Amino acid sequence: MTTQNGALDNSPLIPPVPLLFEESAPGRGGVRLPKPGVDETPLPADLVRPALDLPELSEAQVVRHFTRLSQRNFSVDAQFYPLGSCTMKYNPKLNEEAAAEEGFRRSHPLAPEEYAQGNLELMYRLQEDLKKLTGFEGCSLQGAAGAQGELAGMLMIRARHRAGSGDLRNRVLIPDSAHGTNPATCTKAGFTAESIPSGADGAVDMDALRESTAGEKAKTLAGMMITNPGTLGLFERNIAEIIRIIHNAGGLVYGDGANMNALMGIIKPGDLGFDVMHLNLHKTFSTPHGGGGPGAGAIMAGKTLAAFLPGPVAVRGPAAAGSAAAGPVYRLEKPPSSIGRVKTFYGNFSVLVRAYAYIRTLGARGLRRASEYAVLNANYLRALVEDHYPTPFGSKRPCMHEFTSSPNMGNGIHTIDIAKRLIDYGFHPPTVYFPLIVKEAFMAEPTETETKETLDAFAAALGAIAEEARTSPELLKNAPHFTPVGRLDETAAARNPALRYVPGAE
Ligand SMILES: *Cc1c(COP(=O)(O)O)cnc(C)c1O
Repeated sequence: MTTQNGALDNSPLIPPVPLLFEESAPGRGGVRLPKPGVDETPLPADLVRPALDLPELSEAQVVRHFTRLSQRNFSVDAQFYPLGSCTMKYNPKLNEEAAAEEGFRRSHPLAPEEYAQGNLELMYRLQEDLKKLTGFEGCSLQGAAGAQGELAGMLMIRARHRAGSGDLRNRVLIPDSAHGTNPATCTKAGFTAESIPSGADGAVDMDALRESTAGEKAKTLAGMMITNPGTLGLFERNIAEIIRIIHNAGGLVYGDGANMNALMGIIKPGDLGFDVMHLNLHKTFSTPHGGGGPGAGAIMAGKTLAAFLPGPVAVRGPAAAGSAAAGPVYRLEKPPSSIGRVKTFYGNFSVLVRAYAYIRTLGARGLRRASEYAVLNANYLRALVEDHYPTPFGSKRPCMHEFTSSPNMGNGIHTIDIAKRLIDYGFHPPTVYFPLIVKEAFMAEPTETETKETLDAFAAALGAIAEEARTSPELLKNAPHFTPVGRLDETAAARNPALRYVPGAE
């Protein structure tokens, strides 16, 4: 097979996948079914499709096909994956063992509470640990992802305004550097999103914020959604003042907690005055993600909103009088003004087990060190590549766990070319073209689990690419060179995805 530009597919990084499905031979097979113990009855004719055109292959051929396909994926287990905002940290295998424990794996979601005490205790303990770590009053583990946690949080804000006299409160302020889920969530929850600009230092423009919350405007303010550190990788130094301004105008503050990896054990968002926040257990708390989940977006709430949390949540109480149980008893309970369920049963339970195992393995000090190393790694990497990959916002300040650069290589080279060329060097590209306020954005998040050697190698690749951009830009323009397919038409791939094997199709 050749790549788009004619180069041979001989990358040492990505083994080629022979098209085994084309090696189908009539009568070849890999499954032997036992003889049925009953008389065979033909299926009704209208249920039978005559020519299915399925490939006929041996078991070994099928195993090799799928194993090799899996090896063509980039993954944290195989490569450095500095995808900004996504926190692609290494996922300890111990967590997998915990999640695969029989008692967790095989318990039935409809089992009565007395038969699920271990599961409920784990949920309770995880809720308590997350509350301690973030300084919030309440926690619900229902959210299946960050975006769902956001939606739940915004519905809680709406419910609280409605319970008061805040029916008119429909405006939600969102910094222009926000993750795309923020305005989407806010709109879905029935609010109107209003963008607040960022200053040259990457911080929220305080004059604009005051303007949008003053006088008559305060009456229609529902609140604000804000990420700290923001997607520029910078700590929002005015956060306490921002929260005060919103509260004074009668609004509530949603914290997007997806960037908690910079703050564990260092700052408690609950103490800063946030009213509600989600945590991405599949980012900060090391559950594997990518490829669509499953994830978990735990929802944390302060005094103002804890009663509105989605439920049920796990609670602990004394054993009922006369019961056989010796220790405390765990139950499921709906918070008093709960917005209801946002997910069937108890959220993505196996993700909760992994997050709990991660927290208990690291302990309080370990979590703090994880955040310290995440920040150190990002600053180290940023310093190594600064010459070619400058950070336009907050360039004089240290970054948090990620940094957002705006490369300007000349020669008609765009960030997409750099990203594609990185694949040839064996690295997953960072997040590109986000946040939208950074021209040609290139957002790298190395995470705490990467060694100095890996960061050095990545910086060396970025340096080599900058040199190539100067001397042989076409190398970048045509990259990647060693993958089975070269540049994809990403719009067409999204609009017309080929999701089905069709014999003989390209
Ligand atoms: C990942 C992310 C989200 C959304 O989380 P999902 O689990 O992907 O839904 C929201 N905000 C920020 C800043 C993120 O990085």
